[in-house]
Amino acid sequence: MHKRIAILGSTGSIGTTALRVIEGLNASLKDKSQQFEVVALSGHTKVKLLAEQVKRYKPKYVVISESNNIEHLKNLLDGQKVEILSGAEGLCRIAELEEVDTVLAAIVGAAGLHAVLAAVRKGKRIAIANKEPLVIAGQLITQEAKRYNAELLPVDSEHSAIFQALSAGRRDEIEKIILTTSGGPFRQASPAEIQNATLEQVLAHPVWRMGPKITVDSATMMNKALEIIEARWLFDVPVEKIEVMVHPQSIVHSMVEYVDGSVIAQLGYPEMSLPIQYALTYPVRLAGNARKLELSKLKTLTFEKPNPEIFPAIEMGFEAAKKGGTASAIFNAANEAAVEQFLAGKIKFGSIVELVRHCLDKTISKTNASLEELLNADNWAKKEVIECLKKNKTHNRQTV
Ligand code: NAD
Ligand code: MG
Repeated sequence: MHKRIAILGSTGSIGTTALRVIEGLNASLKDKSQQFEVVALSGHTKVKLLAEQVKRYKPKYVVISESNNIEHLKNLLDGQKVEILSGAEGLCRIAELEEVDTVLAAIVGAAGLHAVLAAVRKGKRIAIANKEPLVIAGQLITQEAKRYNAELLPVDSEHSAIFQALSAGRRDEIEKIILTTSGGPFRQASPAEIQNATLEQVLAHPVWRMGPKITVDSATMMNKALEIIEARWLFDVPVEKIEVMVHPQSIVHSMVEYVDGSVIAQLGYPEMSLPIQYALTYPVRLAGNARKLELSKLKTLTFEKPNPEIFPAIEMGFEAAKKGGTASAIFNAANEAAVEQFLAGKIKFGSIVELVRHCLDKTISKTNASLEELLNADNWAKKEVIECLKKNKTHNRQTV
C-alpha cells in the first residue's frame, strides 16, 4: 500500500481533510512500511497553517505561492528541515517528483491547471478534487493521461460515486449518469431573493462545509454545471447521457442507470473524507476515519428535478459542455472572475450567473483547442467580466 503523496493545496478544505484521512489510514496500517508518506505540501496565503503542517507531517518539500513569504515561513518552522519552493514552478516541481507516486490536486480554480498537467505527463496517479482544470482543458488532460499512462481518480463526491457505480456494468450498457445536488441554500428561494442574496446567506450551505469559491458555486449551482463538464471528460460520456437530480439530504452521492433499468448508487454522509480516501487507496478499500452510515437514522431520501427558473446555471453548464473546447474554458473563467468579485463584496449575487451568460453568448467555441488557446480564452473571459462591470453598473452591489 505504501504511497508517497504530494498535496497541492494542503491548507484548504480538501487539503486539511486529506491530511486527516492519511493520519486515519496510517493508524489502521500497523506495518510502517505500508503507511502513506507525505512528501510535499503546498499553500497560498495561510503561511502559519502551512508551517504547522510542515512540522506535523515532515514533508521533504513545501511550496508557498509568493516568494516574499519564504522568510516568514522559515521563521515559523522552528528549525524543521524542508526544501522550500515557490510559485507555479514550485507546484509543477512537486507534481513531477520522482519520489511521488500520488498527487492530490486540491488547489481551487485555474491556478491548479499547470501542475495537474505536469503530474499527468509524469504518469502519476492524480486524485483530482480541483475540477476547474478538467472544465478548462478536460479533453487535453484526458488525452495526455492516456498517452502518459497517468491515472485520474475523482475526489469530487459525485464523481467518486459515479466511478464506483461504473464498476457494475460495461460502458456500452450505461443509460445515463445521474449527478445529485443538495440544491444549496436557495433550493426553495424565489428568483428575486436569489438575485440579491447576501454573502452570509450564500456561504451558509445547508449540508457541505467547503472552501469559499465552491460554496458560492454551490449556491449559484455553477458547481453542478462545472461537474457536468467534469463528468463528461472523466468518464468519456456524451453530455446527453448526463442528468442532474436535486437530493437535499446529500446521502446518495450520484448514480448510474444501466440499459436494463438498474440504478447503482453510492451512499455516505456528506463529508469528503471517504471520496478522498478512496482515490488514495483505490483499488483497495481500507478502514479509515470516515463515519459509517447509520441507515436506520435516515428518515427520508428525496429526489426532484432542478427548477430551471431558480437554477439557470445548470442549463448553461449543459450548453457549455456541448460546445466544449474554448466555450468550457470561458464558462469556467467568467465564473471564477465573477465569484472573486462577489466574494470581495463588489457585485450582487445574481450578477455572477448574468456575467457568465454574457461571456458565453459572446463565445464562438473552438473544439480541439491547444493549451495556449484555452489559456487565452480563460484570460479573455476574466478581462471581459471586469470590462463588463466597468460599463454596466447594474451589477454593482451598491445599487442594490
Ligand atoms: P479552499 O479554498 O479551501 O482551498 C484551496 C487551496 O488552494 C488552499 O490550499 C490554497 O492555499 C490553494 N490556493 C488557492 N489559490 C491558489 C493559487 N492561486 N495558487 C496556488 N495555490 C492556491 O478550496 P477547497 O474547498 O479545498 O476546494 C479545492 C478544490 O476541490 C476546488 O477545485 C473545489 O471545487 C474542489 N472540491 C472541493 C470540495 C470540498 O468539499 N471542499 C468538494 C469537491 C470538490
Ligand atoms: Mg461535488
